[in-house]
Amino acid sequence: MRSSGHSPRRVLIAGGGVAGLEATLALRALAEDRVSVDVVAPEADFTYRPLAVAEPFRVAEMRSFPLKKLVREAGAELRQGSVAEVDAARKVSRTHEGDELPYDVLLLALGARAEEAVPNALTFRGPEDGPALAAMLEEALNGELRRLVFALPAGVAWSLPLYELALLTGTHLTDAGTRGVELTVVTPEEAPLALFGAAASDAVRDLLEIRGIELRLGTTPVSFEAGMLRLSPESRLDADRVVALPRLAGRPLAGVPQDPAGFVPTDAHGRVMHLADVYAAGDLTQFPIKQGGIAAQQADAAAEAIAADAGAPLEPAPFRPVLRGLLLTGIFPRYLRSEVGKDVSAVDEEPLWWPPAKIVGRYLAPFLAERLGLSEGPPPAARQGAVTVEVELDPQHAGARSPL
Ligand SMILES: Cc1cc2nc3c(=O)[nH]c(=O)nc-3n(C[C@H](O)[C@H](O)[C@H](O)COP(=O)(O)OP(=O)(O)OC[C@H]3O[C@@H](n4cnc5c(N)ncnc54)[C@H](O)[C@@H]3O)c2cc1C
Repeated sequence: MRSSGHSPRRVLIAGGGVAGLEATLALRALAEDRVSVDVVAPEADFTYRPLAVAEPFRVAEMRSFPLKKLVREAGAELRQGSVAEVDAARKVSRTHEGDELPYDVLLLALGARAEEAVPNALTFRGPEDGPALAAMLEEALNGELRRLVFALPAGVAWSLPLYELALLTGTHLTDAGTRGVELTVVTPEEAPLALFGAAASDAVRDLLEIRGIELRLGTTPVSFEAGMLRLSPESRLDADRVVALPRLAGRPLAGVPQDPAGFVPTDAHGRVMHLADVYAAGDLTQFPIKQGGIAAQQADAAAEAIAADAGAPLEPAPFRPVLRGLLLTGIFPRYLRSEVGKDVSAVDEEPLWWPPAKIVGRYLAPFLAERLGLSEGPPPAARQGAVTVEVELDPQHAGARSPL
């Protein structure tokens, strides 16, 4: 640790999820004792959400860890609470519980709200929807369901969990010897997992085909009623159950500029437009791809800017998004990487990046690996069929590549 004679700059991080923890670790590493860090979040436990898709299939267990302990080990203190308002002129944030938290620099990492986008579908938001999905699988195994549809709503750029749910369902039913259940993926994308480029799309197309899962591209699910999924362009699809991903929206926060969907506009260093000393990172920001690795990269960019401002000897790098994914499928390991605009793609039998954990954060991945035992990559039962994908995104074109 560096010892300065000055009192440290007080950094308040609102949110104890992926971006909040990555920023805490990055600040500790980069700014050392030039800053003190407090984290404010309402929950008692950090939950590793990406494994939520695997739990109903019993190929992985959800991991969680007491947040207070995790934050302390990351080099900060946790204050339990939920931020309601930011008074940037006075440099305080107010919580719903009535506390006033003063700061020198504030980093907003509140994540997003998951909303139902396909009425009456089973909206899969994370661990809380695992039991409903497990019940649906049970009904399918008992022969009570014949047609299951997995639907990606319009405006959802991060489609990977939907493909995982469809592929894992296919494997689960086949392994149990269940026949005669039709599975269909409905998506507005032009190719499956289009965000990752051609190599990933081809691999996912093959995986769907191997399991006999039908794919309807360029089709948006609208609503599910009386055994019928309404689609756009105007058509219908018979279904006993529809599983859909949620649409994300920002969290209301008084005193902070937000677009109509609730997302916060930032510059390339994470500074919130029109507010001094307020930064934002992760799903809460306007960047269209809501993904853990992206959230961590935004947190790193903000932490570098905050550290440099506090006097750390570094040139802060702007946010340069690289999308990496690990797809849990059930069979044949394959690892993919592609680069946007360069027509380069790679298919390999070895991971092309490490650690192949589900959320890649420069500081968070090794930190969680140690604490949650994630260093070995995907859980053993799922590892067999893991597909990793990586793509460098041009921030200007990320929106154009997503179905937003
Ligand atoms: C089922 C599922 C599968 C996924 N799979 C992957 C994957 O394979 N790879 C990947 O990279 N990403 C994946 N993601 C996405 C990833 O989990 C999110 O993009 C990531 O967690 C976003 O990080 P964040 O820090 O912005 O938000 P979060 O991690 O959601 O953290 C937000 C934090 O803010 C807190 N908070 C909320 N409101 C307040 C408030 N008012 N005041 C203070 N604190 C508040 C929350 O309690 C939480 O601590 C998946 C998500 C889901 C749901």
